[in-house]
Amino acid sequence: MSPEVKPDFLISPEGLRIDGRRPDEMRPIELKVGVLKQADGSASIRQGKTYIIAGVYGPRELHPRHLTINDRAYLRVTYRMATFSVPDRKRPAPSRREREISMVIANSLRPTLFLEEYPKSVVDVFVTVIQADGGTRCAAINAASLALADAGIPMRSLIPAVAVGKADGKLLVDLGDEEDKYGQGDVPMAIIPQTEEITLLQQDGSFTKEELVEAMQMGINSCKYLHELQKEALKRAYVKKPGEGGDDDDDDDDDYEDDLETDLGEAELPEDE
Ligand code: UDP
Repeated sequence: MSPEVKPDFLISPEGLRIDGRRPDEMRPIELKVGVLKQADGSASIRQGKTYIIAGVYGPRELHPRHLTINDRAYLRVTYRMATFSVPDRKRPAPSRREREISMVIANSLRPTLFLEEYPKSVVDVFVTVIQADGGTRCAAINAASLALADAGIPMRSLIPAVAVGKADGKLLVDLGDEEDKYGQGDVPMAIIPQTEEITLLQQDGSFTKEELVEAMQMGINSCKYLHELQKEALKRAYVKKPGEGGDDDDDDDDDYEDDLETDLGEAELPEDE
């Protein structure tokens, strides 16, 4: 995965990044909705080599009960990195970093959710980083927001998120791992795209006021692009294309028989009497 040695430069003489991107170019992104069978809602994201799966369970009864909030649901986010997701094995015990990221993800998503519709319950969001290559907290927000929509949790809007950073004095969107590690700083942010209200803003490293204003504008533009991708992913999961069939009973029977053939092999199918 990531080389352990510092690259000679992060911006080439031509002004391109180590993976050939322009400063304002995102990594390739693939969003999928409904990837987990057991969850009430789920989504996955591949953002460059970063790969994350989010599963939503609930609204459901909250345990332990002392966490109950009388007038709304508790949004409980659990962000974890798989032990094999990073070059040096990650210790399985939850780290302070994982607890902090769980909290910031919940804070980013909460403002658009109608949690007051489910008093005293919990909406559990489990986020697992399968492969980390930078930008995991923002990628996690992108996937978790889609998973909440897939679970049918009422919301004003999906929430997109991206990290903008600085390397070799240049502002860059969607930092990869080397840019994150060897760059001069990063600003992860999440917004409500319709109003440009900010629901996450963190900063690592130092930026001038002008740089920060420009970084935030680049982040807003990238978040709006991500929001379009999120909406497309939802539509792919829910909008049936013409000819894909409906609730016809006969079709369901055919599907069932197709499944049997797949599972048992045609030879083992019981004979029709
Ligand atoms: N990382 C790691 N081991 C860890 C935690 C993080 O190697 O235990 C790496 C991983 O590649 C991650 C990167 O450090 O993507 C940046 O982590 P950061 O805390 O900045 O969060 P992120 O940028 O992923 O939101």
